[in-house]
Amino acid sequence: MLSIQNLHAQYGPIPILKNCSLHIERGEIVTLIGANGAGKSTLLSTISGLLRPSSGSIQLEGSEIGGLSPSKIVSLGICQVPEGREIFSPLTVKENLELGAFLRRGKDQKKKVQEDMDYVLQLFPRLKERFTQPAGTLSGGEQQMLAIGRAIMARPKLLLLDEPSLGLAPKLVNVILETIKELNKEGLTILLVEQNARKALEIAHRGYVIETGRIVLQGTSSELKEDPEVKRAYLGKD
Ligand code: ATP
Repeated sequence: MLSIQNLHAQYGPIPILKNCSLHIERGEIVTLIGANGAGKSTLLSTISGLLRPSSGSIQLEGSEIGGLSPSKIVSLGICQVPEGREIFSPLTVKENLELGAFLRRGKDQKKKVQEDMDYVLQLFPRLKERFTQPAGTLSGGEQQMLAIGRAIMARPKLLLLDEPSLGLAPKLVNVILETIKELNKEGLTILLVEQNARKALEIAHRGYVIETGRIVLQGTSSELKEDPEVKRAYLGKD
């Protein structure tokens, strides 16, 4: 579904991504593992069009998308849930979810948008309870649910998740990860950036390790879990 070849990206004069190549097949959960500052968020931002690649290629289903605008990339089916969630605090839960479907205009979409809203509320019953409250009054975990729900409302083919469990209590981390697994079972393809590499490898099919902007290792989740270097650097003690 997504194929990235020899991607370079930089902030101003500072090179961040160096020659990154990776691919994501339809129906997969692929995780990106790396230390703070390794370039994980930068890679997601480059895929979603927030940062222009300085060279290399990003293809979605065979078509080049590198350098297109973020709204064009959303309309092609890639949606990012940013780290820190970035929901609209003064707007209600309902309004935030509706904004996710902003690009889905047209009469035929109205019923489908409503169906997706029902699906999100069934996925996250807490959002149903808080439906008419301003999003700023939600707890951290609920805001994360809202951010994921809003992304689902865009009906993406590929969901980019940046640190969905950041700052959440362990119980909620499991709720979020279980939901990601469920979304994937429903057919959504997912690229997951997660500080908690152990949890990420539990739900992902494959993964890549990124260090200082370079992909240094890739494999199935079981291969990565058994890799001595991954164990030492990212999984800690058993
Ligand atoms: P984290 O888990 O801390 O978010 P990360 O792997 O996602 O880490 P990035 O956020 O992609 O890392 O950052 C990669 C590098 O790019 C870091 O050295 C960071 O300081 C730098 N960087 C990130 N955003 C910017 C920016 N807007 N301008 C300049 N440099 C940036």
